Amino acid sequence: MLTGVEPRSSAGVLAEPATAPLDGVGIKRKDAGVAREGPDRRTRCTQTMKTYNVLGFSALALQVLISAMLAPPWLGPWWGIVVGFGFLLLSWFLGGLYLSDVIHLGIAHRALDYKVWFIKVVTVVNNSVGVYVDPVSWVNRHRLHHVFADHPGDPNKLGADGFWKTMYLCIFPYPCTANLATDPILRTRTFRVVSHPLFAVISPLLSGGLLWLIVPDWKFVVGVWLGVRLFALWVNMVQNYWTHDRRFGTRRYEDAGDNAMNIGDWLPVMATFSACWQNNHHHYQHLLRTSHDAAEFDFGYSTVRVMGALGLVSPSKTGTNRPDDLALAEVAL
Ligand SMILES: [Zn+2]
Repeated sequence: MLTGVEPRSSAGVLAEPATAPLDGVGIKRKDAGVAREGPDRRTRCTQTMKTYNVLGFSALALQVLISAMLAPPWLGPWWGIVVGFGFLLLSWFLGGLYLSDVIHLGIAHRALDYKVWFIKVVTVVNNSVGVYVDPVSWVNRHRLHHVFADHPGDPNKLGADGFWKTMYLCIFPYPCTANLATDPILRTRTFRVVSHPLFAVISPLLSGGLLWLIVPDWKFVVGVWLGVRLFALWVNMVQNYWTHDRRFGTRRYEDAGDNAMNIGDWLPVMATFSACWQNNHHHYQHLLRTSHDAAEFDFGYSTVRVMGALGLVSPSKTGTNRPDDLALAEVAL
């Protein structure tokens, strides 16, 4: 699967010695790969948790405000909030199911075996009425991200990239240097249609059209639709920026080859379907869950377990392959 790209260690990080990570103003730190303990670190964590949480809750509050203020008179602000925030919740749930559970753990890492029809239904529904994400290019970028993690070749972010640069990269990522998305399912008609550029153009009309059917008012539709994309951008920043900068979150594993961090706050975990346990996930990519301790809040794992109970998904051969040093007694659905 990884032929033609730089080899990595069994932990999924570059085998070459890591360069010292940069801080927010581009200064190389001397403590690369070393956990920073003590009061200074705790203070910093408290401050930075506030930053991403405050921005996340702000995006949600803005959605409430937009929904109330742009609601037409016949609908009223309260029903406007119900529809506008409800549309955000629908988009969030569909997006988490699609990207974090199905495309990420199911296809990109092959940690879960989903029913093929279910993968296709979730892919079509999310990309029609939810936030569009091209599944084929996402899988390729994500695999390259793990291979090169924060180094040249990672389409998402380099170690030196700051907040605004990473936000730009969320929309216009670095070019991919290899094609690692050659899975048979990604070549099926469903995935070829959804990943076609024309589908990306039609998708906003479909998702906006759904809103229009409920509230036929173009100002309300545009405002609510954009508010959902702003929240989605924040979710993307949790994944690409806050969990890939050593000033934020914590580290369970001191992998020197990347800057992946664990963020376990309630809102980021809910918003990303637990994909913000990045340090765990980068260390053991093959596992069907990203939390590595029963005490770690894992909403995404709960959703997968529900799907498992419904017979929609089962662990893959590698998904439950428990490493000896894992804090969990077993890995199962
Ligand atoms: Zn991953």
